Amino acid sequence: MHTCSLERCSMFTSKNGKAIDAFENTSRGTGSLKKRKRMTQNQAYYLGLSGRADLHMHSTYSDGLGTIQQILHHIQHNTDLDVIALTDHNVVEGALRARDLWARGNYRFDFIVGEEISTREGHMLALFIEKRIPPNLSIERSIDLVHEQGGLAIVAHPLNPLFRHSCQREVLDRIFEDDDVWLDGIETWNASFCGIYTNRLAMRTNREIYGWPEVGNSDAHTIHAIGRGCTWFEGSTAQHVRAAIESGVCAPGGKLWRMHDYLRLASHRMNKRRRDRRKRVA
Ligand SMILES: [Zn+2]
Ligand SMILES: [Zn+2]
Repeated sequence: MHTCSLERCSMFTSKNGKAIDAFENTSRGTGSLKKRKRMTQNQAYYLGLSGRADLHMHSTYSDGLGTIQQILHHIQHNTDLDVIALTDHNVVEGALRARDLWARGNYRFDFIVGEEISTREGHMLALFIEKRIPPNLSIERSIDLVHEQGGLAIVAHPLNPLFRHSCQREVLDRIFEDDDVWLDGIETWNASFCGIYTNRLAMRTNREIYGWPEVGNSDAHTIHAIGRGCTWFEGSTAQHVRAAIESGVCAPGGKLWRMHDYLRLASHRMNKRRRDRRKRVA
């Protein structure tokens, strides 16, 4: 029942004593949505959430196809995103370099340094960090390391039963019950294959049980997929996104990847495999 989840949610308090109540602003953020719905552009504007962020994407520093230069250029000229986070797998170097480029340029969007950490229990986004967090630690330890740096820890594409890098229900339950560790948010809209069918399950489960602030992201590995998923928030800067996540006044939105996003990625991976095989033979 919805009422019960609201009660549970308002009792949930994090380690630093700050109440995490995603549905406190029930008429503004995710709490205004039905159990399995993402926010449409019209709803977002009506509620004053006119900022759009994409907080999960990959560059050539991990398994993405776009260089950091191409990504910055594409976002500037071909999207209306206000804030982005670069979150390569288990590295932060690309995001730090991209931030340097971004700081030297005259970009109209704001930039967040991030990483997608392969924890032992599944992928987790770390936002607003400066130092790399190593993979293969427990998710609790990884969350602690994010918080030690003053970052935000957000579970990525959870509850996908077929994807081995997706956190499952028992892990989320464990974190939810833990008094010492907390998640700052949950990605309930992931525009990639990880989110097909599972986004709706993640939204419903979070709204019924956990009540964590929800974000939506593209998980883009090709530049044209950037912005396919988004997080609606009030304002236009990285600090506004942070405040929105911390207060639960944000909402997941967007669409899924298009067919050509998959085709580009598949043909790139096939060519790479062919090149690697040739190198091994030579
Ligand atoms: Zn992932
Ligand atoms: Zn990813």
